[in-house]
Amino acid sequence: MHGVRKETVEELDTSSNVADRLAGLVASLPIAAVIVARNDLFGFTSLACNDAFATLHAILDSQQGVSPFILERDRLAALLASLESGEKNVSERWCSSDLVDPREIDISAARLNNMGVNGDNVFLISFVDRTAEIQNQRNLHREMLSDSLTGLYNRTGFEEAVDNALSHSDADGQNDENFAIIAIDLSRFSQINEYAGAIVGDELIVTVASRLKNILRGRDILARIGGNEFAIFARLSDDAADIDAICARLTSVFDAPYSLSGLQVNMDAAIGIGVGKAGNGDPSDTIRQAQIALKQAKRTNKIELYRKEVLDTFRMRFSLETDLRHALDNDALSLAYQPLIDLSDGRVIGFEALARWEHPVHGMIDPGDFIAVAEECGLIVPLGKWVLSKAVHSLKEWDDAVGFTLPIGMNVNLSAVQFARDDVAQSVRDVLEEANIDGKRLTLELTESAILSDPDRAAQAMHALKALNTCLAMDDFGTGYSNLAYLQKLPIDILKIDRSFVTEMLQDRDSVSIVRAVLSLANALGMETTAEGIETVELSNTLAALGCTHGQGYYYSRPLSADDALAYYLERSAKV
Ligand code: C2E
Ligand code: CA
Ligand code: CA
Repeated sequence: MHGVRKETVEELDTSSNVADRLAGLVASLPIAAVIVARNDLFGFTSLACNDAFATLHAILDSQQGVSPFILERDRLAALLASLESGEKNVSERWCSSDLVDPREIDISAARLNNMGVNGDNVFLISFVDRTAEIQNQRNLHREMLSDSLTGLYNRTGFEEAVDNALSHSDADGQNDENFAIIAIDLSRFSQINEYAGAIVGDELIVTVASRLKNILRGRDILARIGGNEFAIFARLSDDAADIDAICARLTSVFDAPYSLSGLQVNMDAAIGIGVGKAGNGDPSDTIRQAQIALKQAKRTNKIELYRKEVLDTFRMRFSLETDLRHALDNDALSLAYQPLIDLSDGRVIGFEALARWEHPVHGMIDPGDFIAVAEECGLIVPLGKWVLSKAVHSLKEWDDAVGFTLPIGMNVNLSAVQFARDDVAQSVRDVLEEANIDGKRLTLELTESAILSDPDRAAQAMHALKALNTCLAMDDFGTGYSNLAYLQKLPIDILKIDRSFVTEMLQDRDSVSIVRAVLSLANALGMETTAEGIETVELSNTLAALGCTHGQGYYYSRPLSADDALAYYLERSAKV
C-alpha cells in the first residue's frame, strides 16, 4: 500500500516503471479514481485504478449502461476532449438511470502531463459518490418543507409545490390556466386547544387534514400553512363553477361533528379564496390574497373571494389602526358636544359627547369608521375611557368656569365591544370620583347589541352603573332587534329614537306609527325619550306634541367645541 504521495504528477519520471507509478498515484488518492489513456486506435484504455474505484464500479456494474469508465463513452470523450483543448480540469455530475438504486456521482478529470505512454494522452478521472449526501440534503429539504404533525407541506413547502405545479403547466402549454388558493382557518381552535389540551388539539388538526385530503381532486395540493390554517391549491377550468364545487366540498368537511378522544366537537372554519393565473405574477401573491380574503371572512362569517377593494379597505383599516393608536397616545382626538333639548320648554338639559378625529392626511374621519376600527383592534377600550374622562372633565370645567354646578348633564356613548371587554362601572366610578361629578349628571348611551351578546353580563354591568346613580339610555332604538321583553327587565331610563325614523316621520306614515309606538311604550315603562336628528321646526313641534321628552339635532345645533357648547348653553338659558 502507498501513503499519500507528495510529488506532483509532473515530477514523475516517465522513464521508470510507468504502470507502477500510475498505480501508486491512484492508490494514494482517498477517492475513487482511474487513470485512462486515450489513443486514436483503441479509444480509451484503463491504466490503473484504486480499490475505491473498484468498489464503486462493482456497485454500478450491475446497472445498465455503465461503461468501465462509469461515464458513457460519448460523454467521456467530450469531457476529455475539452481537457485536450487546453482546459485544466473539468467536472460534471453523473446520475445513473437505475430506478432501484439511483446514484449521483461527481466526476472530475485532469490531464496528466509528462505521463504519456506511447504518446497517448493520459487522464486522471476521480469519482465522488454524492448519493448519500444528496439524499440527506433532500430529506432535510423535505423536512423543512413539511409539517411534522400532518406530513403535509408547510407554508414554504406549499409555495414551492405551487411554483412547481405552475411551471409544469407551462410545459404542457397550458400556461394561462387559472388557479385558486383557498385559505382555511379553523375557528375556535385555540379555545378547544386550551380547554381539551394540546393532544386533542393535535388530533383535531390531523383529523381535519385527513378530511380535507379526502375532498381533494387529483392534482390539488393541500398544506398546513399555520397552527390552525390550511391551504389548498386547485386548478380551475371553469372559475365560478369550480370554486362553487370546491366550496361545497369544503363545507361538507365541517358539517359532521368531530369525535376526539371521546369528545364531540363541531368545527367551523373561515374560508378565503384568491384566484391567480399561471405564468402571471408570483403565486405567493395569490396566497397572500387568499389570506386577506380569509381575514374578511372572519368578519363576515361567509366564504370570501379576494377582491382588490378588500385589500384597499384592509390597507386603509390597517393604516387607520396604526394612526389611531398614535392619535390616542398623542392626545390628538377631540370631543364635540351636541346639545340635548327639553322639548316641552326648549331648555338645554345637557350634551352628548361625540368623538372627533382629524387625521393629518385624510382629514376628518367619520366616527362611524374609526370607532369600527377601534372596536376591531381593541383600541375601543382606551378610546372609550378617554372619551368618558374627557367628557366628564369638560362638565367640571364648565362648572368651574361659571362658578356653580350647572343644571346640565353629559351623555357618553359606550360601544358594545367596550361594554363587553372593560369593567365599565369601575372606569365610570374612577372618573366621577376624580372629577368630583355627581353620577346623576352622567348618562351612558348603550346600543341593543351591547345587551344581546351577553344579556346576563350586560344586566350585571347595567346594575353596577345604576348603583353609581348614572342614567342609562338605549341608543339607536328601533334599528336593532327591539326585543321589548328585555327592556322591561333592565334598568333603562331613556330610549333614544333612531334618527332614521325621526327624519322620515314627515313623509312616511309607518315611521310616524313606529315613533308613536315607541313613545307610548316608553311611557308605559316609565322611561323618558329622546328623538335624534331633529332638523326642522316641524319635527320639533310634532315630536313635542306626541309627548317625546327630549330632542337633539341640527335644528338646535350641530355638535360644538367645548367652549362653544358652554356659550350655547349660557345664551339659550338666558333666553328661556
Ligand atoms: P350616535 O350616538 O347616534 O350619535 C348621533 C349622531 O347623529 C352624531 O353623528 C351626530 O352628529 C349626528 N346628528 C345629530 N343630529 C343630527 C341631525 O339633525 N341630522 C343628522 N344628519 N345627523 C345628526 P357622529 O358624531 O358622526 O357620530 C356617529 C356615531 O359614531 C354615533 O352615533 C356613535 O354611534 C358613534 N360615536 C361617536 N362618538 C362616539 C364615542 O365617543 N364612543 C362611541 N362608542 N361611539 C361614538
Ligand atoms: Ca349616541
Ligand atoms: Ca344614536
